[in-house]
Amino acid sequence: MTALSRKNLWEKTPAAVKRGLAGALSVMPPTFWLGKAFREQLAFANDAATWSAEQSRAYQTRQLRDILKLAHDQSPYWRRVIDDAGLNPHDIANPEYLRALPLIDKQTLIDHGTDMLTRPANSPGVDTVSTGGSSGVPLKFHIGSERSAIEYAYLVAGWQRVGFQPDMPQIILRGAIVAPDRTGLRYAYDPILRRHQFSNFHMTDENMARYLDKMATLGDCYLHVYPSSIAALTRFMQRTGRTLPSNIRGILAGSEIVYYEDRRATEELTGLRYFSWYGHSEKLVLASACEHDAAYHVWPTYGYCELIDEDGEPVTTVGQRGEIVGTGFINRVQPFIRYRTGDFATYLGDRCRHCGREQMLLGNIQGHRTQEMLICADGSEISWTAVNMHDGTFDGVRQFQFLQQTPGKATLHVVPAADWTDARASAVKKSLDRKLAGRIVFEVAVCDEIELTTRGKMTFVDQRIPDVAHSAPAAASHT
Ligand SMILES: [Zn+2]
Repeated sequence: MTALSRKNLWEKTPAAVKRGLAGALSVMPPTFWLGKAFREQLAFANDAATWSAEQSRAYQTRQLRDILKLAHDQSPYWRRVIDDAGLNPHDIANPEYLRALPLIDKQTLIDHGTDMLTRPANSPGVDTVSTGGSSGVPLKFHIGSERSAIEYAYLVAGWQRVGFQPDMPQIILRGAIVAPDRTGLRYAYDPILRRHQFSNFHMTDENMARYLDKMATLGDCYLHVYPSSIAALTRFMQRTGRTLPSNIRGILAGSEIVYYEDRRATEELTGLRYFSWYGHSEKLVLASACEHDAAYHVWPTYGYCELIDEDGEPVTTVGQRGEIVGTGFINRVQPFIRYRTGDFATYLGDRCRHCGREQMLLGNIQGHRTQEMLICADGSEISWTAVNMHDGTFDGVRQFQFLQQTPGKATLHVVPAADWTDARASAVKKSLDRKLAGRIVFEVAVCDEIELTTRGKMTFVDQRIPDVAHSAPAAASHT
């Protein structure tokens, strides 16, 4: 049994059994439970971050050659595309050879999903990932089960730049369902991974006051949060004059777009570093801030990142914006080669003048969807990112969108796929009800189409409550 499956097994163990075992098991630090693959990847990520640009390019060239060889040998779709481009994978001498190939996008996955595979989807060690996706169309793809340990190693390597160590406890406000304890506090502790979970679905003033009291008792730790969670907590502290307990050493905030004003407000109020990263569930490009600067430093050994302008040409001018196009090194089951992520960023150069790392630097990353909020009856907010399901809830749904006109109430409009049944509708409702926990009462309504915004984009929440000004853009399905 690998250490990662040990961790998965633990996460599936019933709470009562966990309580019995936890005392004995928690003697081992989280790095033990995260496993050898995690520890090796963490060491590799930290080492690779010191490489020169030439070293990174040589590594990327080898990875791209391997991925293209595998794709050409095993996947009917990729063999056709690579042959049509006149490219021989063995010839690839630098990453720019990739430009011979066309860009692909989500539609490519929908049209050619099975043909893109290098081995059958039901092979051992292959997982199916299903996300609410972006643009309101659910996305399904296949990837090896080792991806989580690899990604987490890179995330931790980033967090280490601001003092986090892998065995340190984390306070988490990130979309987990947390039941109330005996005192009604929505808090749970996982002693194996040293994670203190709080519910970000219940951020009322009363609960936030209790959260801060509880956090103060947890010893040295880091906050690991959604930007929208820490933004809500910051607004609460500003409103009430409360402060963040002094045992909190730093703030790790990711998976949603970070707004400059929000980050500044939190840093000013707390005096702590607000550290962010960029990633997505497709695991193609990962980028982290550094010790000194909030710019996103692209990890060169995680995947190959291109920034592409409207004409499909690489962005090379500092300050110019482009779309993030990724070729992942992790997924060897369904290779993503030159995949348009739908996320846009400003090119800031290839070497950080603060830390000296020779990596592509990106700023102001924005997705193609708005940071939409559902508003509860008491005025508190639930962000779409927290509600978004990655578990197949939206299988059988082509598009979906909440319509909200009254706080605490909403209608979920669903455009069904061909195999839609009433049982599917109940499953969607049940799954979302668990997350929304009565704070948003909603009904499911089937419809033929969902209208796009004037900019041709899909929004997840058609927010029609007067004076709710949550219309700023945010990125999709980020990790
Ligand atoms: Zn730097």
